Amino acid sequence: MLFNLQRYSTHDGPGIRTVVFLKGCSLACRWCQNPESRSRAREVLYDARLCLDGCQLCEQCVPHAIQRVNSRITIDRHAISERDLDRLETCCPTGALSVCGSALDLDEVMGTVLRDLPFYQRTGGGITLSGGEPFMQPEACAELLQRSHHHQIHTAVESCLHVPWHNIEPSLEFLDLLLADLKHVNANSFKQWTDGSAKRVMDNFRRLAAHGVNMTIRVPLIPDFNADEMSIRTITDFAADDLGAKEIHFLPYHTLGINKYRLLDMPYLAADKPLDNPELLDFAQQYARGKGLTALLRG
Ligand code: SF4
Ligand code: SF4
Repeated sequence: MLFNLQRYSTHDGPGIRTVVFLKGCSLACRWCQNPESRSRAREVLYDARLCLDGCQLCEQCVPHAIQRVNSRITIDRHAISERDLDRLETCCPTGALSVCGSALDLDEVMGTVLRDLPFYQRTGGGITLSGGEPFMQPEACAELLQRSHHHQIHTAVESCLHVPWHNIEPSLEFLDLLLADLKHVNANSFKQWTDGSAKRVMDNFRRLAAHGVNMTIRVPLIPDFNADEMSIRTITDFAADDLGAKEIHFLPYHTLGINKYRLLDMPYLAADKPLDNPELLDFAQQYARGKGLTALLRG
C-alpha cells in the first residue's frame, strides 16, 4: 500500500530524489506528523473547511456511513467498506473528502522513478523509500531497491527499525544509505511514547552496524520525551560507542502535521508548539561532535 509518491525531493538523502511513501507503521509515536501513514489500510480524510453547503454527494454515495449534519458531514469510519472507499475516491468535487492510500504497483512506481534518471545522475540523487515504515512491506521494499540498482540508481530507506530483522535483511544488498530513527534508548520512555520496544530497535541497529551498513542516525527531539540533555547524552553515546556511527542528525520537533489529526478524527497527544530551545540544539550538536560524530540539524 502506497500513500504518496514525491518527485524532486531534496530532504530525504543526497541529491534530487523520488520518495516512495509506503503505508503502515508498527509504532504509534505520539508526535507523529504523518498520522495518515500509520495504518496499512486506506483511510478517509475530511476537511470541513472545504465542504460545500448543501452538497450531499458523499452521503448519497455511502448513506450508511456518511450523514450531513448542519454545515458538515459526520463519518462512521468503522462502517466504510473497501467498495465504499472505491466510490468515495472520485465523489467529492472540492477535495474536502479524500481517500488516502492506493495499491502499490511496482511497475508504475518504477516508471515514475525512471523519469528523473538524468536528475539523479546530475545531482547524485536517487530513490528513497519512506513511510510509515517501508520495511513493513519487505518484499516490495527489496524489489524496488533491486530494480533501482539494476538502473544504477542510488537507493535510500528511511526507517524507524521497529520491525523483525527478517523484514530488513532482504533489502540490505541493494541499499546504499539507511536513514534510521533512534528515538530513545530508555525502554520505559520509548514504550510510553510509541507503544513500541526500544530493544527491538536497538538490536536492529547493532546488527546493521555489524553488517557495515552505511547509516545516518536521526534523532527527533520531542519535548517531554527526549528533548533534554540526559536523553541526548544517552542516545548519542549509544550511536557513537555501541554502533560506531559517523553521522547523526537532530530533528527539532515541529507541528506541521497537527491538522491531519483533525481530518482523520484522531486525538493529538503531543505538544502543540514546536521545540524552541536553541541552547539544547547547540548542546546536542556540540556533544555529538565531542563524541567524534558529524552532527547536523535538520528541519
Ligand atoms: S515511526 Fe514515524 S511514521 Fe511511525 S508512528 Fe512514529 S513518527 Fe509516525
Ligand atoms: S462530497 Fe465533498 S463537498 Fe460534498 S458534502 Fe461530501 S465532503 Fe462536502
